[in-house]
This record gives sequence, C-alpha cells and structure tokens, in this order.
Amino acid sequence: MSAKYIWMDGKLVPFAKATVHVQTHGLHFGTSAFEGIRAYASPSGPKLLFLDQHIQRLYASAKMLRMEIPFAPEAFANAVKSIIKKNGHASCYIRPICFRGDESMSMNPRRNSVRCAIITQELGTYLGQEAIELGIDAGISSWRRTAPGVGMPNAKIGGQYVNSVMMVMEAQDHGYVEAIALDAGGLISEGSGENIFAVHNGVIYTPPMAGSILLGITRTGVLQLAQHLGYEVREQAFTREFLYVCDEAFFTGTAAEVTPIRSIDKLKVGTGSRGPITQYIQQAFFDIVQSKVDDVWGWLTPIK
Ligand code: PMP
Repeated sequence: MSAKYIWMDGKLVPFAKATVHVQTHGLHFGTSAFEGIRAYASPSGPKLLFLDQHIQRLYASAKMLRMEIPFAPEAFANAVKSIIKKNGHASCYIRPICFRGDESMSMNPRRNSVRCAIITQELGTYLGQEAIELGIDAGISSWRRTAPGVGMPNAKIGGQYVNSVMMVMEAQDHGYVEAIALDAGGLISEGSGENIFAVHNGVIYTPPMAGSILLGITRTGVLQLAQHLGYEVREQAFTREFLYVCDEAFFTGTAAEVTPIRSIDKLKVGTGSRGPITQYIQQAFFDIVQSKVDDVWGWLTPIK
C-alpha cells in the first residue's frame, strides 16, 4: 500500500499530489540520482540502516551527473526522518530521488531545475522469506553490465537502470528469480540490484570496484562483518565457471538484504541450499539491523 505523504522539494505532499510534468528531463533521459534505504523496526521505533552512507552516495551520484542538489546533506537526512515519522511507519523502504525538471527537453540539462523527492513504502523481504531461508535460482544474463566509460557503473543514476530492467525481465522470462551480469570483459559483475559474493574453501570473494559494480553499502557492511567473524575476504574478480563450483553464493543489497543463491544457470551451488557461512553472516546481519544485539559499528540511526 502507498504511504500517505511524499516529501517533495522541501514539503510534505499528499501521495496523489506528488506529480511531475510529462516534459520532465529525468523522465526522457534518466537524469536522476536516487537511493534505496531501509528503516528497520526496533523497540524504540524505526531505525535507518546506513543513513549517512546512503546520503553520501546520493550526493556522489548527483555530482557524477553534474547535478547540484539544492539541499544540504544534513537537511536531506532530516527530510528522510521527517517523512518516515509523518507516514507513521514502523519499518519501511525509502526512495530518495533527485532529478532534472521540466524547463527544457534539451539534451544539455544544465538549465533545468533539480527536483527532489522522498517516497516511502512498507517492504518486507524483497525476494520473499522463502528466498532468505532456501535461496534463489539465478541465471547469467545475456546483458552485460554497463561498462566504465560507457556509463558510470559506480553511480546510482536513473537512466542506467534500463540495464537492470532488461536483466531482470530476461531472467524471469527464463524462470529465474534474479539475473547475474558479466562485466564487459566477461567476468562476474553483480545482480540487477544486488552485489554478489562467492564462498570457496572458507574464503569469501566479491568483485572489486572496477568490476562494473555499484559500490553497495550492504556489500561494505557484509565485508566488515565477515572480517570481524574471522573470514578471509577478497575483493577480487572471478569467472562465471568459478561461481559454478564455489561452495556458496549470496546476494547483498538494501532490498535483498543477504539472500542465498541456491542455483546458477540451473546448476546447484554447493548442496543447492543456503550454505553455513551464508547463514552465519545472514544471522549476524539480521541481529544487528533488527536491534537484537548492540549496534557496535553505528550502522543504525534512530528517527527520534
Ligand atoms: N548493485 C546495484 C546495481 C544496485 O542497484 C544495488 C541496490 N542499491 C546494489 C548493488 C546494492 O547496493 P546497496 O547495498 O547499497 O543497496
């Protein structure tokens, strides 16, 4: 169900009134920077996960797009808190978006205003509770991930997501839940909206920044967690065939959280179910975000 209010250009607006003109540049050319954030329920009210990191990445994506957000980052962070409060969510998904407005359809958007909105909605598990426990079936996409120099894989920019949309539609047409993209060089990159990890002989691998990935904030958190739990972690490029024979694989993302991958291209990953290291990391992750243990690294920000 939709939330009652949307934060738009500094105001709280009823959901039905938060509209834009059809000449909006962001609609035509994908000139938007956006984020996906989660707020988790806790006994003392909702808590935002990695708020500062998401705000930082939003401003970084906007900078890459030569777009100046007309609010200070602190004001934007406060706006995120205010809209969650206004909508009365116990937990939710938050979608901040900044985009070029409707003044002109010129390819060069510099004359266009920069508009901002924050949408919230209730969101349970993105790929289903069953996915969290049993894992999902994924397939390698025929679409390569947007390459550096073609687009900006490190930026979370609207237009670039046509790549993800094509990937996920193809994957689901083929009976998979999610797609895994190769980078332009044929090495493993990431999912349509998740980073990917592989576990082999007790070592945890994930593609590096230069592997055409979005620098996932959950990815960074999971790397920190895995190291803390005593695992060797390697940000290192790997092949499709390495994924076929690894012991475990999983996705990370704000929406996907930590989701095991039980098969790739119809080949079982390990035993074809959630692996023990995946489960251990998943548990440690959920314990923190669901406020079951102390938030020792300061991942969470209370709304109040
Ligand atoms: N890759 C892509 C392409 C994504 O859209 C996302 C979701 N933002 C991720 C990875 C995971 O990033 P995060 O953990 O910051 O949500």
